[in-house]
Amino acid sequence: MKSGYGKSDQTFLRNYNIRKVRTILREEGPCSRVDLSVKANLDKKTITNIINEMLKNGEVEVVSKSSNGAGRPKENLALNGEYSRCIGLDIGGTHITGVVLDFTGKVLCEHNIDVVNNDSDILFQLCDLVMEELLEKSKLSIDEIDKIGIAFPGHIDIRTGRTVLSENIQGWDDLPILDIFTEKYGKEVMANDCSRLMALAELRYGAGNDERNIIVFDLGLGIGCGIVINRKIFPGSTGMSGEVGHTIVKVDGSRCTCGRNGCIEALASGWALSKQAMDLLKNNESPMLSKTINKNTMIPTTKEIVLAAKLGDDKCIQLLKNAGRYVAIGIINSISIINPSKVIIGGRLIRDNDIFYDEMIKTVKKDAISELIKDMKIEVSALGDLATAIGAATQCFEEFFEYE
Ligand SMILES: [Zn+2]
Repeated sequence: MKSGYGKSDQTFLRNYNIRKVRTILREEGPCSRVDLSVKANLDKKTITNIINEMLKNGEVEVVSKSSNGAGRPKENLALNGEYSRCIGLDIGGTHITGVVLDFTGKVLCEHNIDVVNNDSDILFQLCDLVMEELLEKSKLSIDEIDKIGIAFPGHIDIRTGRTVLSENIQGWDDLPILDIFTEKYGKEVMANDCSRLMALAELRYGAGNDERNIIVFDLGLGIGCGIVINRKIFPGSTGMSGEVGHTIVKVDGSRCTCGRNGCIEALASGWALSKQAMDLLKNNESPMLSKTINKNTMIPTTKEIVLAAKLGDDKCIQLLKNAGRYVAIGIINSISIINPSKVIIGGRLIRDNDIFYDEMIKTVKKDAISELIKDMKIEVSALGDLATAIGAATQCFEEFFEYE
């Protein structure tokens, strides 16, 4: 090639431009060809070619026409949700939540099952149940689903597709999770860490939508975070970034599931709170908790601890405040490292848990470097309990878009 500009370069550029146009349509809603030409900084001929191709394969549709009285009416174009639909499954230690997401990012339906026994075999069966419910609610057949996205509470080696370690699901260590789900449902499957996918959902559709650098803290049975740098999820070199729950904040503190001592997760996560509350019960230190707890299990859940605290139990109030302070240390340290414009707090641990949340925010504001948080926002997740499942489905669509 004389120009040094080959066919593969042209194909690359064309695909890049198509992804750019899709992203504008998704983020800004219906646009005319003229609007797209301006926003994508592409000439009208290129836009016309791209739109013709997208109309032909059904990924965009004309949603309205507008006229200013002169010439041909302008056609307003939008992405067609039915072009592709994916399922997202958030598999947690306490729940399996699923959504069907369409090409525009709309949640078509959701389904949740609370998990009491998080043994590996039962979880696989519960995933089947959630899948069946989602297909029934959305009135879609499995053939109409393009991909399945899994959010997993533990490490997945992105190079091999195998789980490395699952602290909150028994028996899911060193599992070829991608192969298992691909064989199970006959679909292409993508999987990633649950906190990272929560961050992806908040970035694309939630509280992080207008930001470039954010940290999303996922507080639940375990503790993790998703890091976004320049509007891109930062996975780390082997996909194990964001393990804020396993940063040590108390030398010689409680034993953690990772085998070390004093991690935030061992002091302030959902499972750590249950363990601490069990000690209170054993020592008869919390009369209120012995009334709010489920007598069948005798393992206090965060919900039951929060209830006892709300009913005035001093020990439970103290336990939640301490946990809030430890998580705050993790947030403060992360802010010092990343310098985000916004911190987003999500996960089931903060649900109706004002005592914990208020103490955590108070500590961050008091102890973080003031220059770093002067203009930084801190907000609760906009997508709530669905965030991770939405992120799980969103990962399946990422290759279609170009976020800059
Ligand atoms: Zn740990």
